[in-house]
Amino acid sequence: MMIELNIDGKKLSVESGTSVMEAARQLDIHIPSMCHIGDLPHFASCMICMVKEVSSGKLFTSCTVKATPGMEIITMDDEIREARKTALDLLLSDHVGDCDAPCQISCPAHMDIPMMNHFLAERKFAEAYDVVIQDIALPSILGRICPAPCEGACRRNSVDEAVSICFLKMYAGDYVVSDGVPTEAFAVRNGVPAEAFAVRNGVPASGFAFAGMTTLRGSRVAVIGSGPHGLSAAWYLQSFGYQCTIFDRYALPGGALRYSVPKALLPDEVLDKEIERIRQSGVIFQMNAEIDPERMKELENEFDAVVYPLEKQLKMAIKASAFGKEAAWKTKQKLMGEPVVGEPKMFNSRFGKLKESEAVEYLKESVAGERIEPSLGFTHGLTEEEVVAEAARCLHCECRKADNCLLRIFSDEYKAEQKRFQGPERKPVTKQFQHETVVYEPQKCIKCGICVRITEKHQEEFGLTFIGRGFDVVIGAPFSESIREGLTHTAEEAAHACPTGALAMKGGRK
Ligand code: SF4
Ligand code: SF4
Ligand code: SF4
Repeated sequence: MMIELNIDGKKLSVESGTSVMEAARQLDIHIPSMCHIGDLPHFASCMICMVKEVSSGKLFTSCTVKATPGMEIITMDDEIREARKTALDLLLSDHVGDCDAPCQISCPAHMDIPMMNHFLAERKFAEAYDVVIQDIALPSILGRICPAPCEGACRRNSVDEAVSICFLKMYAGDYVVSDGVPTEAFAVRNGVPAEAFAVRNGVPASGFAFAGMTTLRGSRVAVIGSGPHGLSAAWYLQSFGYQCTIFDRYALPGGALRYSVPKALLPDEVLDKEIERIRQSGVIFQMNAEIDPERMKELENEFDAVVYPLEKQLKMAIKASAFGKEAAWKTKQKLMGEPVVGEPKMFNSRFGKLKESEAVEYLKESVAGERIEPSLGFTHGLTEEEVVAEAARCLHCECRKADNCLLRIFSDEYKAEQKRFQGPERKPVTKQFQHETVVYEPQKCIKCGICVRITEKHQEEFGLTFIGRGFDVVIGAPFSESIREGLTHTAEEAAHACPTGALAMKGGRK
Protein backbone atom coordinates (compact mmCIF):
# COMPACT_ATOMS: atom_id res chain seq x y z
CA MET A 1 0.00 0.00 0.00
CA MET A 2 1.27 3.47 -0.86
CA ILE A 3 1.13 6.33 1.63
CA GLU A 4 1.06 10.03 0.78
CA LEU A 5 2.82 12.53 3.02
CA ASN A 6 4.42 15.94 2.90
CA ILE A 7 8.01 16.72 3.93
CA ASP A 8 9.30 20.29 3.89
CA GLY A 9 6.41 21.30 1.66
CA LYS A 10 7.03 18.56 -0.90
CA LYS A 11 4.48 15.79 -1.50
CA LEU A 12 5.53 12.19 -2.04
CA SER A 13 4.21 8.62 -1.96
CA VAL A 14 6.06 5.85 -0.16
CA GLU A 15 5.49 2.18 0.57
CA SER A 16 3.70 1.44 3.82
CA GLY A 17 6.30 0.75 6.55
CA THR A 18 8.77 3.33 5.24
CA SER A 19 10.35 5.42 7.98
CA VAL A 20 10.18 9.21 7.81
CA MET A 21 13.97 9.29 7.40
CA GLU A 22 13.86 6.96 4.39
CA ALA A 23 10.98 8.96 2.91
CA ALA A 24 12.99 12.18 3.27
CA ARG A 25 15.94 10.55 1.51
CA GLN A 26 13.70 9.86 -1.49
CA LEU A 27 13.32 13.64 -1.73
CA ASP A 28 17.09 14.11 -1.33
CA ILE A 29 16.47 15.71 2.06
CA HIS A 30 19.35 14.77 4.33
CA ILE A 31 18.53 14.15 7.99
CA PRO A 32 21.63 13.61 10.16
CA SER A 33 22.07 10.24 11.83
CA MET A 34 24.86 8.25 13.40
CA CYS A 35 23.18 5.02 14.50
CA HIS A 36 21.32 4.20 11.26
CA ILE A 37 23.23 2.39 8.54
CA GLY A 38 22.10 0.64 5.36
CA ASP A 39 19.72 -2.25 5.81
CA LEU A 40 20.89 -3.19 9.32
CA PRO A 41 18.09 -3.31 11.89
CA HIS A 42 18.41 -0.39 14.27
CA PHE A 43 17.05 1.43 17.29
CA ALA A 44 17.19 5.13 17.97
CA SER A 45 20.23 5.87 20.10
CA CYS A 46 22.01 8.98 18.83
CA MET A 47 18.78 11.05 18.75
CA ILE A 48 20.07 13.57 16.24
CA CYS A 49 17.59 12.67 13.50
CA MET A 50 14.80 14.66 15.18
CA VAL A 51 12.09 16.13 12.94
CA LYS A 52 8.75 17.81 13.73
CA GLU A 53 5.16 16.92 12.91
CA VAL A 54 3.46 20.19 11.90
CA SER A 55 -0.07 19.52 13.25
CA SER A 56 0.97 18.43 16.75
CA GLY A 57 4.25 20.31 16.96
CA LYS A 58 5.84 17.16 18.39
CA LEU A 59 9.46 16.23 17.82
CA PHE A 60 10.35 12.61 17.12
CA THR A 61 13.23 10.48 15.78
CA SER A 62 12.75 10.12 12.04
CA CYS A 63 14.58 6.78 11.88
CA THR A 64 11.96 4.96 13.98
CA VAL A 65 8.63 6.61 13.17
CA LYS A 66 6.87 5.25 10.07
CA ALA A 67 5.19 7.46 7.53
CA THR A 68 1.39 7.70 7.97
CA PRO A 69 -1.21 9.01 5.49
CA GLY A 70 -1.43 12.81 5.40
CA MET A 71 1.56 13.29 7.69
CA GLU A 72 3.14 16.75 7.36
CA ILE A 73 6.77 16.98 8.48
CA ILE A 74 9.39 19.69 8.68
CA THR A 75 13.05 18.69 9.00
CA MET A 76 14.55 21.96 10.23
CA ASP A 77 13.62 24.91 12.39
CA ASP A 78 15.12 26.49 15.53
CA GLU A 79 13.55 23.91 17.84
CA ILE A 80 14.78 20.96 15.78
CA ARG A 81 18.25 22.47 15.57
CA GLU A 82 18.33 22.94 19.35
CA ALA A 83 17.11 19.36 19.95
CA ARG A 84 19.86 17.97 17.72
CA LYS A 85 22.45 20.14 19.43
CA THR A 86 21.28 18.95 22.85
CA ALA A 87 21.57 15.32 21.69
CA LEU A 88 25.15 16.02 20.60
CA ASP A 89 25.96 17.90 23.83
CA LEU A 90 24.81 14.83 25.78
CA LEU A 91 26.88 12.45 23.66
CA LEU A 92 29.92 14.66 24.13
CA SER A 93 29.43 15.00 27.89
CA ASP A 94 31.13 11.68 28.61
CA HIS A 95 33.18 11.46 25.43
CA VAL A 96 36.90 11.16 26.16
CA GLY A 97 39.05 11.85 23.13
CA ASP A 98 41.07 14.49 21.32
CA CYS A 99 40.15 15.05 17.68
CA ASP A 100 43.36 17.00 17.02
CA ALA A 101 46.41 16.39 19.21
CA PRO A 102 47.23 18.99 21.90
CA CYS A 103 50.44 19.93 20.06
CA GLN A 104 48.48 20.81 16.94
CA ILE A 105 45.98 22.89 18.92
CA SER A 106 48.86 24.80 20.56
CA CYS A 107 50.71 25.47 17.31
CA PRO A 108 49.66 28.98 16.16
CA ALA A 109 49.69 27.69 12.58
CA HIS A 110 47.75 24.54 13.58
CA MET A 111 50.28 22.29 11.87
CA ASP A 112 49.44 18.58 11.70
CA ILE A 113 52.38 17.53 13.87
CA PRO A 114 51.41 13.89 14.47
CA MET A 115 51.02 13.30 10.73
CA MET A 116 54.48 14.82 10.14
CA ASN A 117 55.82 12.47 12.82
CA HIS A 118 54.17 9.46 11.17
CA PHE A 119 56.01 10.15 7.94
CA LEU A 120 59.35 11.03 9.52
CA ALA A 121 59.35 7.81 11.54
CA GLU A 122 58.90 5.93 8.24
CA ARG A 123 61.67 7.95 6.51
CA LYS A 124 59.08 9.48 4.18
CA PHE A 125 60.69 12.91 4.35
CA ALA A 126 59.11 14.46 1.28
CA GLU A 127 55.66 13.45 2.55
CA ALA A 128 56.49 14.93 5.95
CA TYR A 129 57.47 18.16 4.22
CA ASP A 130 54.18 18.20 2.32
CA VAL A 131 52.33 18.00 5.65
CA VAL A 132 54.35 20.84 7.17
CA ILE A 133 54.11 23.18 4.21
CA GLN A 134 50.32 23.05 4.25
CA ASP A 135 50.38 25.19 7.38
CA ILE A 136 53.88 26.57 7.80
CA ALA A 137 55.31 28.44 4.83
CA LEU A 138 58.80 28.74 6.35
CA PRO A 139 59.64 25.39 7.97
CA SER A 140 63.45 25.62 7.74
CA ILE A 141 63.43 29.08 9.29
CA LEU A 142 60.86 28.40 11.99
CA GLY A 143 62.44 25.05 12.82
CA ARG A 144 65.42 27.12 14.01
CA ILE A 145 63.80 30.04 15.80
CA CYS A 146 60.31 29.00 16.95
CA PRO A 147 59.95 28.87 20.78
CA ALA A 148 57.81 25.75 20.23
CA PRO A 149 54.57 26.30 22.17
CA CYS A 150 53.58 22.90 20.74
CA GLU A 151 56.28 21.21 22.82
CA GLY A 152 54.88 22.79 26.00
CA ALA A 153 51.54 21.11 25.26
CA CYS A 154 53.03 17.79 24.13
CA ARG A 155 51.49 14.78 25.95
CA ARG A 156 54.88 13.08 25.97
CA ASN A 157 55.70 15.47 28.85
CA SER A 158 53.49 13.21 31.01
CA VAL A 159 55.82 10.30 30.28
CA ASP A 160 59.28 11.88 30.18
CA GLU A 161 59.98 14.87 27.89
CA ALA A 162 58.22 16.48 24.95
CA VAL A 163 58.85 15.22 21.43
CA SER A 164 61.44 17.45 19.76
CA ILE A 165 58.87 18.84 17.33
CA CYS A 166 60.84 21.89 16.23
CA PHE A 167 63.93 19.96 15.22
CA LEU A 168 61.73 17.48 13.37
CA LYS A 169 60.07 20.32 11.48
CA MET A 170 63.49 21.81 10.74
CA TYR A 171 64.61 18.50 9.22
CA ALA A 172 61.48 18.25 7.07
CA GLY A 173 61.95 21.87 5.95
CA ASP A 174 65.62 21.42 5.13
CA TYR A 175 64.84 18.27 3.20
CA VAL A 176 63.19 20.12 0.34
CA VAL A 177 64.91 23.24 -0.87
CA SER A 178 64.50 25.68 -3.71
CA ASP A 179 66.94 24.28 -6.22
CA GLY A 180 67.07 20.65 -5.16
CA VAL A 181 70.33 21.19 -3.30
CA PRO A 182 70.07 20.97 0.46
CA THR A 183 71.62 23.55 2.72
CA GLU A 184 75.24 23.05 3.72
CA ALA A 185 74.25 22.25 7.29
CA PHE A 186 71.82 19.61 6.12
CA ALA A 187 74.41 17.91 3.94
CA VAL A 188 77.07 18.02 6.63
CA ARG A 189 74.96 16.52 9.35
CA ASN A 190 74.00 13.65 7.07
CA GLY A 191 77.61 13.04 6.09
CA VAL A 192 77.10 13.36 2.32
CA PRO A 193 77.91 16.04 -0.24
CA ALA A 194 74.94 18.28 -0.96
CA GLU A 195 74.44 17.21 -4.60
CA ALA A 196 74.66 13.52 -3.73
CA PHE A 197 72.07 13.99 -1.04
CA ALA A 198 69.69 15.75 -3.41
CA VAL A 199 70.01 12.99 -6.01
CA ARG A 200 69.57 10.23 -3.42
CA ASN A 201 66.43 11.77 -2.05
CA GLY A 202 64.89 12.86 -5.31
CA VAL A 203 63.95 16.34 -4.17
CA PRO A 204 62.02 18.56 -4.75
CA ALA A 205 58.82 17.09 -3.38
CA SER A 206 55.35 17.77 -4.68
CA GLY A 207 54.73 20.29 -1.90
CA PHE A 208 57.52 22.48 -3.19
CA ALA A 209 56.13 22.44 -6.69
CA PHE A 210 52.44 22.97 -5.89
CA ALA A 211 52.37 26.73 -5.75
CA GLY A 212 54.20 27.28 -9.00
CA MET A 213 52.03 24.75 -10.81
CA THR A 214 48.73 26.33 -9.80
CA THR A 215 46.64 27.93 -12.52
CA LEU A 216 46.34 31.62 -11.74
CA ARG A 217 42.85 32.98 -11.20
CA GLY A 218 43.49 36.33 -12.85
CA SER A 219 43.44 38.42 -9.68
CA ARG A 220 46.58 40.19 -8.45
CA VAL A 221 47.42 40.75 -4.81
CA ALA A 222 49.93 43.19 -3.32
CA VAL A 223 51.56 42.09 -0.07
CA ILE A 224 53.24 44.76 2.01
CA GLY A 225 56.36 43.63 3.85
CA SER A 226 58.62 40.62 3.31
CA GLY A 227 58.88 39.40 6.90
CA PRO A 228 57.31 36.12 8.07
CA HIS A 229 53.78 37.58 7.77
CA GLY A 230 54.19 38.80 4.19
CA LEU A 231 56.15 35.75 3.01
CA SER A 232 53.58 33.40 4.44
CA ALA A 233 50.61 35.36 3.04
CA ALA A 234 52.22 35.48 -0.41
CA TRP A 235 53.10 31.75 -0.42
CA TYR A 236 49.54 30.67 0.39
CA LEU A 237 47.89 33.23 -1.89
CA GLN A 238 50.13 32.12 -4.74
CA SER A 239 49.20 28.50 -4.01
CA PHE A 240 45.52 29.52 -4.11
CA GLY A 241 46.15 30.82 -7.60
CA TYR A 242 46.66 34.58 -7.13
CA GLN A 243 49.61 36.45 -8.60
CA CYS A 244 51.34 38.03 -5.61
CA THR A 245 53.79 40.90 -5.51
CA ILE A 246 55.63 41.59 -2.26
CA PHE A 247 56.71 45.21 -1.64
CA ASP A 248 59.40 45.95 0.92
CA ARG A 249 61.43 49.03 1.74
CA TYR A 250 64.67 47.10 2.30
CA ALA A 251 67.08 45.84 -0.35
CA LEU A 252 66.80 42.20 0.71
CA PRO A 253 63.66 40.26 1.71
CA GLY A 254 63.12 38.70 5.12
CA GLY A 255 62.25 41.69 7.32
CA ALA A 256 62.83 40.97 11.00
CA LEU A 257 64.09 37.48 10.12
CA ARG A 258 67.08 39.04 8.35
CA TYR A 259 67.65 42.12 10.43
CA SER A 260 66.69 41.12 14.00
CA VAL A 261 67.45 37.41 14.43
CA PRO A 262 71.08 36.52 15.27
CA LYS A 263 72.86 34.96 12.27
CA ALA A 264 74.15 32.14 14.46
CA LEU A 265 70.55 31.11 15.00
CA LEU A 266 69.31 31.77 11.48
CA PRO A 267 72.09 31.81 8.85
CA ASP A 268 71.43 33.87 5.71
CA GLU A 269 71.84 30.69 3.67
CA VAL A 270 68.74 29.14 5.26
CA LEU A 271 66.75 32.36 4.94
CA ASP A 272 67.76 32.86 1.31
CA LYS A 273 66.93 29.31 0.26
CA GLU A 274 63.52 29.40 1.86
CA ILE A 275 62.75 32.80 0.26
CA GLU A 276 64.03 31.51 -3.07
CA ARG A 277 61.50 28.67 -2.91
CA ILE A 278 58.76 31.29 -2.47
CA ARG A 279 60.16 33.32 -5.37
CA GLN A 280 60.18 30.19 -7.57
CA SER A 281 56.53 29.61 -6.80
CA GLY A 282 55.86 32.74 -8.85
CA VAL A 283 55.80 35.46 -6.19
CA ILE A 284 57.31 38.76 -7.45
CA PHE A 285 59.54 40.74 -5.06
CA GLN A 286 59.77 44.53 -5.41
CA MET A 287 62.52 45.62 -3.04
CA ASN A 288 63.63 49.16 -2.12
CA ALA A 289 59.95 50.10 -2.36
CA GLU A 290 58.95 52.71 0.21
CA ILE A 291 55.18 52.51 0.73
CA ASP A 292 53.89 55.88 1.93
CA PRO A 293 50.12 56.60 2.19
CA GLU A 294 50.06 57.95 -1.36
CA ARG A 295 51.75 54.86 -2.82
CA MET A 296 49.43 52.65 -0.75
CA LYS A 297 46.41 54.28 -2.41
CA GLU A 298 47.95 53.60 -5.82
CA LEU A 299 48.49 49.95 -4.91
CA GLU A 300 44.88 49.66 -3.76
CA ASN A 301 43.83 50.81 -7.26
CA GLU A 302 46.40 48.77 -9.17
CA PHE A 303 45.76 45.46 -7.39
CA ASP A 304 42.61 43.45 -6.71
CA ALA A 305 43.55 43.14 -3.03
CA VAL A 306 46.24 44.36 -0.67
CA VAL A 307 47.57 42.42 2.33
CA TYR A 308 48.65 44.99 4.88
CA PRO A 309 51.42 44.41 7.42
CA LEU A 310 50.50 43.38 10.96
CA GLU A 311 49.64 46.44 13.05
CA LYS A 312 51.75 45.12 15.92
CA GLN A 313 54.86 43.24 14.78
CA LEU A 314 55.49 39.60 17.47
CA LYS A 315 57.99 38.60 18.79
CA MET A 316 57.03 35.16 17.71
CA ALA A 317 57.75 34.56 14.02
CA ILE A 318 55.45 31.52 14.06
CA LYS A 319 52.54 33.77 15.06
CA ALA A 320 53.35 36.26 12.31
CA SER A 321 53.56 33.37 9.86
CA ALA A 322 50.22 31.98 11.10
CA PHE A 323 48.60 35.42 10.73
CA GLY A 324 50.03 35.54 7.20
CA LYS A 325 48.30 32.26 6.34
CA GLU A 326 45.08 33.59 7.87
CA ALA A 327 45.39 36.79 5.81
CA ALA A 328 45.77 34.64 2.69
CA TRP A 329 42.57 32.74 3.49
CA LYS A 330 40.64 35.94 4.19
CA THR A 331 41.90 37.60 1.01
CA LYS A 332 40.92 34.56 -1.04
CA GLN A 333 37.45 34.52 0.52
CA LYS A 334 37.03 38.25 -0.13
CA LEU A 335 38.10 37.90 -3.75
CA MET A 336 35.73 34.97 -4.26
CA GLY A 337 32.80 36.82 -2.67
CA GLU A 338 32.56 34.30 0.18
CA PRO A 339 32.04 35.09 3.88
CA VAL A 340 35.39 36.31 5.21
CA VAL A 341 35.93 33.91 8.11
CA GLY A 342 39.54 32.87 7.70
CA GLU A 343 40.83 29.32 7.56
CA PRO A 344 38.03 26.83 8.31
CA LYS A 345 38.32 25.34 11.79
CA MET A 346 36.61 22.16 12.91
CA PHE A 347 35.01 21.24 16.24
CA ASN A 348 37.54 19.70 18.61
CA SER A 349 36.76 17.25 21.36
CA ARG A 350 39.34 17.69 24.14
CA PHE A 351 39.78 15.96 27.45
CA GLY A 352 42.65 17.86 29.06
CA LYS A 353 45.52 16.44 31.00
CA LEU A 354 46.59 12.83 30.95
CA LYS A 355 46.42 11.06 34.31
CA GLU A 356 49.55 9.30 35.43
CA SER A 357 47.92 5.89 35.04
CA GLU A 358 46.94 6.70 31.44
CA ALA A 359 50.44 7.31 30.12
CA VAL A 360 50.87 3.57 29.67
CA GLU A 361 47.86 3.50 27.32
CA TYR A 362 49.44 6.13 25.09
CA LEU A 363 52.81 4.41 25.15
CA LYS A 364 51.16 1.41 23.46
CA GLU A 365 51.54 3.19 20.13
CA SER A 366 54.94 4.66 20.78
CA VAL A 367 58.41 3.66 21.91
CA ALA A 368 60.25 4.04 25.21
CA GLY A 369 63.25 6.34 25.31
CA GLU A 370 64.14 9.85 26.32
CA ARG A 371 64.13 12.89 24.06
CA ILE A 372 67.00 12.84 21.58
CA GLU A 373 69.18 15.93 21.44
CA PRO A 374 71.19 16.75 18.26
CA SER A 375 74.51 14.92 18.56
CA LEU A 376 76.18 17.39 16.16
CA GLY A 377 74.95 20.42 18.10
CA PHE A 378 71.84 22.56 18.05
CA THR A 379 72.72 24.56 14.93
CA HIS A 380 72.99 21.36 12.87
CA GLY A 381 69.81 19.84 14.21
CA LEU A 382 69.06 16.14 14.27
CA THR A 383 70.66 13.59 11.95
CA GLU A 384 68.49 11.31 9.82
CA GLU A 385 68.76 8.45 12.31
CA GLU A 386 67.97 10.78 15.19
CA VAL A 387 64.93 12.14 13.34
CA VAL A 388 63.52 8.67 12.74
CA ALA A 389 64.03 7.67 16.38
CA GLU A 390 62.67 10.93 17.78
CA ALA A 391 59.58 10.91 15.54
CA ALA A 392 58.82 7.38 16.78
CA ARG A 393 58.50 8.80 20.33
CA CYS A 394 55.26 10.55 19.33
CA LEU A 395 52.28 9.13 21.25
CA HIS A 396 49.82 9.94 18.47
CA CYS A 397 47.33 11.71 20.62
CA GLU A 398 45.21 12.63 17.60
CA CYS A 399 42.12 10.59 16.76
CA ARG A 400 42.32 8.06 13.97
CA LYS A 401 38.91 9.22 12.67
CA ALA A 402 39.62 12.95 12.95
CA ASP A 403 38.99 13.40 9.22
CA ASN A 404 35.72 11.49 8.93
CA CYS A 405 34.13 11.05 12.38
CA LEU A 406 30.39 11.74 12.19
CA LEU A 407 30.28 12.88 15.81
CA ARG A 408 32.87 15.53 14.99
CA ILE A 409 31.24 16.56 11.71
CA PHE A 410 27.77 16.99 13.29
CA SER A 411 29.19 18.63 16.43
CA ASP A 412 30.81 21.14 14.13
CA GLU A 413 27.66 21.69 12.10
CA TYR A 414 25.41 22.14 15.17
CA LYS A 415 28.01 24.02 17.24
CA ALA A 416 27.80 21.45 20.01
CA GLU A 417 29.23 22.21 23.45
CA GLN A 418 31.22 19.47 25.12
CA LYS A 419 31.14 21.07 28.57
CA ARG A 420 27.40 21.76 28.80
CA PHE A 421 26.46 18.53 30.58
CA GLN A 422 29.91 17.37 31.60
CA GLY A 423 30.38 16.00 35.13
CA PRO A 424 33.42 16.67 37.33
CA GLU A 425 35.06 13.29 36.67
CA ARG A 426 35.89 11.80 33.31
CA LYS A 427 36.32 8.15 32.42
CA PRO A 428 39.90 6.90 32.23
CA VAL A 429 41.38 6.46 28.76
CA THR A 430 42.01 2.91 27.58
CA LYS A 431 43.21 1.71 24.19
CA GLN A 432 42.73 -1.92 23.23
CA PHE A 433 45.34 -3.14 20.78
CA GLN A 434 44.85 -6.94 21.02
CA HIS A 435 43.35 -7.11 17.54
CA GLU A 436 45.66 -7.40 14.52
CA THR A 437 43.89 -4.78 12.41
CA VAL A 438 41.71 -2.54 14.58
CA VAL A 439 42.04 -0.48 17.75
CA TYR A 440 39.18 -0.10 20.21
CA GLU A 441 38.88 3.00 22.40
CA PRO A 442 35.75 2.50 24.54
CA GLN A 443 35.62 6.08 25.81
CA LYS A 444 34.90 7.28 22.25
CA CYS A 445 31.96 4.88 21.83
CA ILE A 446 28.46 6.40 21.55
CA LYS A 447 26.79 2.98 21.92
CA CYS A 448 25.11 3.19 18.54
CA GLY A 449 25.18 -0.60 18.29
CA ILE A 450 26.26 -0.66 14.63
CA CYS A 451 29.24 -2.92 15.34
CA VAL A 452 27.02 -5.26 17.39
CA ARG A 453 24.60 -5.63 14.52
CA ILE A 454 27.40 -6.19 12.00
CA THR A 455 28.77 -9.08 14.06
CA GLU A 456 25.24 -10.51 14.33
CA LYS A 457 24.64 -10.19 10.61
CA HIS A 458 27.87 -12.03 9.77
CA GLN A 459 27.37 -14.63 12.52
CA GLU A 460 30.55 -14.04 14.49
CA GLU A 461 30.98 -16.80 17.08
CA PHE A 462 31.27 -14.32 19.96
CA GLY A 463 30.62 -11.00 18.27
CA LEU A 464 30.13 -7.79 20.21
CA THR A 465 27.35 -6.96 22.62
CA PHE A 466 26.19 -4.39 25.16
CA ILE A 467 27.66 -5.16 28.58
CA GLY A 468 26.35 -3.58 31.80
CA ARG A 469 23.43 -1.24 32.41
CA GLY A 470 22.43 2.40 32.15
CA PHE A 471 25.25 4.94 32.03
CA ASP A 472 27.83 2.22 32.66
CA VAL A 473 26.99 0.17 29.58
CA VAL A 474 29.95 -0.61 27.31
CA ILE A 475 30.44 -2.46 24.05
CA GLY A 476 32.59 -5.57 24.27
CA ALA A 477 32.86 -9.24 23.45
CA PRO A 478 30.72 -11.46 25.71
CA PHE A 479 32.09 -13.95 28.27
CA SER A 480 35.09 -11.71 28.99
CA GLU A 481 36.53 -12.47 25.56
CA SER A 482 38.68 -9.76 23.97
CA ILE A 483 37.79 -7.64 20.95
CA ARG A 484 40.03 -10.00 18.97
CA GLU A 485 37.67 -12.92 19.54
CA GLY A 486 34.62 -10.71 18.97
CA LEU A 487 35.77 -9.50 15.56
CA THR A 488 37.34 -12.49 13.79
CA HIS A 489 36.15 -11.64 10.25
CA THR A 490 34.16 -8.42 10.64
CA ALA A 491 36.78 -6.09 12.11
CA GLU A 492 37.37 -4.03 8.99
CA GLU A 493 33.67 -3.63 8.21
CA ALA A 494 32.91 -2.66 11.81
CA ALA A 495 35.78 -0.15 11.93
CA HIS A 496 34.66 1.53 8.72
CA ALA A 497 31.02 1.61 9.86
CA CYS A 498 31.73 2.93 13.36
CA PRO A 499 30.63 6.60 13.28
CA THR A 500 33.34 7.68 15.75
CA GLY A 501 36.96 6.87 16.52
CA ALA A 502 35.96 4.14 18.98
CA LEU A 503 36.69 1.39 16.48
CA ALA A 504 39.28 2.29 13.88
CA MET A 505 41.86 0.72 11.61
CA LYS A 506 45.32 0.53 13.16
CA GLY A 507 46.90 2.46 10.29
CA GLY A 508 45.06 5.54 11.48
CA ARG A 509 44.77 8.60 9.26
CA LYS A 510 47.67 7.74 6.95
S1 SF4 B 1 35.79 10.04 18.04
FE1 SF4 B 1 35.29 11.82 16.78
S2 SF4 B 1 34.75 13.43 18.24
FE2 SF4 B 1 35.83 11.80 19.37
S3 SF4 B 1 37.97 12.42 19.40
FE3 SF4 B 1 37.68 11.12 17.60
S4 SF4 B 1 37.24 12.53 15.91
FE4 SF4 B 1 36.93 13.65 17.81
S1 SF4 C 1 53.06 12.99 21.71
FE1 SF4 C 1 52.95 13.44 19.50
S2 SF4 C 1 50.78 13.79 19.05
FE2 SF4 C 1 51.03 13.83 21.28
S3 SF4 C 1 51.22 15.99 21.74
FE3 SF4 C 1 53.33 15.18 21.52
S4 SF4 C 1 53.90 15.44 19.35
FE4 SF4 C 1 51.68 15.75 19.57
S1 SF4 D 1 32.22 0.93 18.87
FE1 SF4 D 1 30.31 0.10 18.04
S2 SF4 D 1 28.71 0.91 19.36
FE2 SF4 D 1 30.54 2.12 19.74
S3 SF4 D 1 30.34 3.88 18.39
FE3 SF4 D 1 31.53 2.34 17.27
S4 SF4 D 1 30.03 1.16 16.09
FE4 SF4 D 1 28.91 2.34 17.64
